[in-house]
Amino acid sequence: MAGVAPSDPPPMLLAGLARVELRDPLLISDLHLAAGAPATLARFLRFCREEAAARAELAILGDLFEYWIGDDTLDDESDAVARDVAAALRALADRGVRVYVMHGNRDLLLGAGFLRATGAQLLADPALASINGREALLAHGDAWCTQDVEYMRFRSSVRQEATQRQFLAGPRAARLAFMGAARARSEAGKRAMAMEIMDVTPSVVEEALRASGQRLLIHGHTHRPAVHRFVLDGEPAERWVLPDWDFDIDAPCAARGGYVAADEAGALCAVALAP
Ligand code: MN
Repeated sequence: MAGVAPSDPPPMLLAGLARVELRDPLLISDLHLAAGAPATLARFLRFCREEAAARAELAILGDLFEYWIGDDTLDDESDAVARDVAAALRALADRGVRVYVMHGNRDLLLGAGFLRATGAQLLADPALASINGREALLAHGDAWCTQDVEYMRFRSSVRQEATQRQFLAGPRAARLAFMGAARARSEAGKRAMAMEIMDVTPSVVEEALRASGQRLLIHGHTHRPAVHRFVLDGEPAERWVLPDWDFDIDAPCAARGGYVAADEAGALCAVALAP
């Protein structure tokens, strides 16, 4: 992958698919892959060879990577994570599995170079899906955590074309240093914040469902895997929250990760992966 640009155009200008037809998908998010989490990376690579390889589609709803500072990461000989993940996705695409990637808040700089290298297609956030005829709204989920006012401000700033252009124009070392500092700040902030602030705001989710005419939502980001069933304007509605992955955690029984799959009738099912 010699000569991959950090990203041009800035990733926020890439047109993601606003609508996708899924037949036999696995949906995952929040793997937060990084060199510091080798067991999680190994489990993902095995997941690509085993669970995902037999499917028609793999949809990654954001935060595949713990961070992404530009597509030139694929050129960095010292970054085995990016190279291994790209190769695993490429192998899936080559065997006919359609791979869809949505930006998360950690990896919103995944750009055209990454898509070319992997054969993945970018999904807009949010995107509409037809899962065997069952309509759903897919999203990363961070856009609905509106109680965290500071994060929402940060989010709109890093999704500006100018901000992305300026960041990506910097040397790789400077981008890495900036990302390290931002992650440290974010970890410190999270510890001090009330739990409910870091979850989605129910009324905002309801508004998004209403606006899109959907009654089924699948998202990640909050690391609170669950199936919420409720009534919206007199109709049954569901919100499926995808699990985050962590196979590097000290206590083996606390290792976690998994996916949501759909059957031929569009019925969803959450599956936990064994380590
Ligand atoms: Mn996230």
